[in-house]
Amino acid sequence: MPDNSPNSPLTDLRNLTLKELTDFIVELGEPKFRARQIFSWLYRPQISSFSEMTNLALTFRARLQDIARLSSLQVDKRQEANDGTVKYAFKLADNALIESVLIPDDNRHTLCVSSQVGCAMGCAFCLTGTMGLRRNLTAAEIVNQVIHVRNELEAKTNGKGRINNLVFMGMGEPLANYDNLRRALDILTDDNGLDFSQRRITVSTCGLVPKIEQLGAETKVNLAISLHAADNETRSRLLPINQTYDIDALLQACRAYPLPKRRRIMIEYVLLAGINDRPGDARRLIKILHKLRCKINLLPCNETEALPFKRPERAVVEKFQHILQEAGYTAIIRESRGAEISAACGQLANKRPGNCHQTT
Ligand code: SF4
Repeated sequence: MPDNSPNSPLTDLRNLTLKELTDFIVELGEPKFRARQIFSWLYRPQISSFSEMTNLALTFRARLQDIARLSSLQVDKRQEANDGTVKYAFKLADNALIESVLIPDDNRHTLCVSSQVGCAMGCAFCLTGTMGLRRNLTAAEIVNQVIHVRNELEAKTNGKGRINNLVFMGMGEPLANYDNLRRALDILTDDNGLDFSQRRITVSTCGLVPKIEQLGAETKVNLAISLHAADNETRSRLLPINQTYDIDALLQACRAYPLPKRRRIMIEYVLLAGINDRPGDARRLIKILHKLRCKINLLPCNETEALPFKRPERAVVEKFQHILQEAGYTAIIRESRGAEISAACGQLANKRPGNCHQTT
């Protein structure tokens, strides 16, 4: 039984990067290579105890048992939609709930993960924003979402199914939990562990400009921006962060983001009827995105009783898309997946607020 207690005196090895694990192991008087051995065990499918780490001496396994632990996540609820989208509600050790959504697409799978319990950013169209920030997730809590879903997927498909893409677009603002996000990225991309390519990972932000710069300097992951408006007045109403970092500052950070060749920044634009969906908004968007290597995801708003926004008519959405395409932009209308299980943008967790950066 995994020890998931938040007050546990045991060190959670799934919360450590390989470097941190090496320091921990060396402090125990063990050779460095042991850390690499343990690290690779930690992320193999279905491993839940030190007793399964068969290339470690029995005495060392027993010692680890006394001082360390391997955390995991408990599923509170699992819902599967007709289109194959699966929403997981995970219960954390302090009873807080977070959600992850697995989105199948042909033979590929994208996993949308959470980075915080709640969110402090208060975006007007987002249910999570109404909940406030409860706390940041630890690196282990972020990584364990991936481990749980990976294990389930592999077991279900006899090892054939894999998570192809990871998107940080679930509950929370990932860049507001930067240190733990960064450590989780280290663990997820380590080739001794889960070995995700950085180009298969996308971090979405509502616009924390200094952290965008830091992310670009320290990683090679993809960047998605929740833009949602093409003028500061509208954007400040929808995303309070815009009062601190306005559109100019945000797009300057995007232009400076060190994009590898052939990669583009993903611009997320939720279409809200009568607010940001007019032809003039599309034309302003073209102007402000000038020369930015990007593609635009248009996300017709998911209506919910808790928020006052309406979904635009299909013709309005298509007209908006057409204007962007005419100007040479890749603009894709993204219909939310898993709507009947409330796994879509802004709908996660039914009555309890959910995610919002939107991907799916
Ligand atoms: S859209 Fe993202 S940043 Fe804004 S409140 Fe929701 S979770 Fe937070």
